[in-house]
Amino acid sequence: MQYDVTVIGSGPGGYVAAIRCAQLGLKTAIIEKYETFGGTCLNVGCIPSKALLDSSEHFYNAAHTFKTHGININDLSVDLKQMIARKDQVVLENTSGIAYLMKKNKITTHIGVGSFEDKNTIKIRKSDGTEETISTKNVIIATGSKPTVLPFLPIDKKRIITSTEALNLPEVPKHLIVIGGGVIGLELGSVYARLGAKVTVVEFLDSIIANMDSTLGKELQKSLKKIGFEFLLSHKVTGALVSGETVTVTAENPKGETVTIEGDYCIVAVGRTAYSKDLGLERIGLKLEDRGNKIPVDDHLETAVKGVYAIGDVIKGAMLAHKAEEEGTFVAETIAGQKPHINYNLIPGVVYTWPEVASVGYTEDELKKQGKKYKTGSFPFKASGRARASMDTDGLVKVLADSVTDEILGVHMIGPRAADMIAEAVVAMEFRASAEDIGRISHAHPTYTEVFKEAALAATDNRPIHI
Ligand code: FAD
Ligand code: NAD
Repeated sequence: MQYDVTVIGSGPGGYVAAIRCAQLGLKTAIIEKYETFGGTCLNVGCIPSKALLDSSEHFYNAAHTFKTHGININDLSVDLKQMIARKDQVVLENTSGIAYLMKKNKITTHIGVGSFEDKNTIKIRKSDGTEETISTKNVIIATGSKPTVLPFLPIDKKRIITSTEALNLPEVPKHLIVIGGGVIGLELGSVYARLGAKVTVVEFLDSIIANMDSTLGKELQKSLKKIGFEFLLSHKVTGALVSGETVTVTAENPKGETVTIEGDYCIVAVGRTAYSKDLGLERIGLKLEDRGNKIPVDDHLETAVKGVYAIGDVIKGAMLAHKAEEEGTFVAETIAGQKPHINYNLIPGVVYTWPEVASVGYTEDELKKQGKKYKTGSFPFKASGRARASMDTDGLVKVLADSVTDEILGVHMIGPRAADMIAEAVVAMEFRASAEDIGRISHAHPTYTEVFKEAALAATDNRPIHI
């Protein structure tokens, strides 16, 4: 079989690339080693974690805020088995949706491990041991990433676990230890904290979500403490041991002393590593980057081998589903002879805790490093009528704008529905809006989005209305 394009990996990078290739009239095949499509994101990442975050948020509200709303519930309890079954159903609906989209777009699907024989010949090794070979003009590698494993922290998948096992726990932990105060640790920690677990986050750096604007980490830490989180910052984890139902984690505190933390489960969430094993890259002479197993690509996302492209988590940049999707479209259009563009500075980042955290553009630290003259405007959710009505008053929106031109350079939010609200900031920045532009645009009342408008007014010339 001869294809114009063969995509290896069916995550958000791979399946979007395949669909866009097919839309552009290219004869396309996709290879996925697992039985279901959708990659990390749909099977063990974005979708299942959000399903559990939604369920646990309902439970938390039923237990803690319904009474104030005038709703009384007796005998409230968690049915974790059902919660996980619902999550599995959501995953199934999404993964079957991708299988449907492959069929609809006449993309040939292959289940098996794909590897290079040469740059135009791909071997597919199926689970029954049989092999098939296909010929292709172009290849898009979209093989994603796997949880990073630390040599001194062996994962037993029962008590010391990664995010994958944390989506299927048999019980609500009594004390969940989370190693890593990044996105995964805080999202999955939130699920179990809301269901009643004590959660201790052990983080090497002196702040959580350290790659976002520092205001956000500080605010989020305050909010998460209210639901049972404890934080050991500037603590470097050095090991973990399981004995029966107890996990003992050892860490080095800022004074260099060894501290121990005992819990019943421990999630290791210290990042993800690009996955390119099994691809036979050596057969096409492709070398990985020295650090992090990433596949090196040029500005067109083409590797050193002509006609072989790579996208998503397996290459440089943020490990995010929507970044992988944009790259999938970018490469498909490049292969079809178009001249697409991605603005990497405007890929938003979101943490689905409650309050949600969302960010786009430069942080204050980055602007300081660039020596850029900027002004800031902030507005708290506690001064928003909409937020008071829903009792979601934690958090704020911060707008950073150029001191001279007033162009928005960064927007950083923590608050209710920030994940959805950040889209307005992305659109504004793609069109190079000024803070005053946002301040002069009508925002429906009462909505959370008014907080963005007020922060923009504050950034323009310090004239928010409602504070
Ligand atoms: P992947 O989704 O990892 O897909 C790669 C696919 O390639 C896999 O299906 C794999 O089986 C397959 N594969 C690998 N090697 C081969 C081979 N040789 N042959 C055939 N198939 C192969 N991102 C967000 O933007 N928002 C979120 O809310 C979010 N939540 C997350 C929550 C968790 C718990 C985790 C773990 C991740 C989350 N992410 C989130 C990150 C997101 O999942 C990834 O950035 C995204 O899936 C990357 O897409 P990808 O297409 O590059 O790779
Ligand atoms: P991360 O990079 O966000 O956080 C890992 C944290 O672990 C860092 O803060 C790091 O300092 C800390 N750490 C590393 N070694 C340590 C040690 N020995 N002791 C203590 N702390 C240590 O990684 P993650 O949370 O595992 O997430 C992986 C990727 O998945 C991220 O790139 C993220 O973009 C993606 N993801 C995104 C979402 C989302 O978009 N909502 C959700 C989940 C995952």
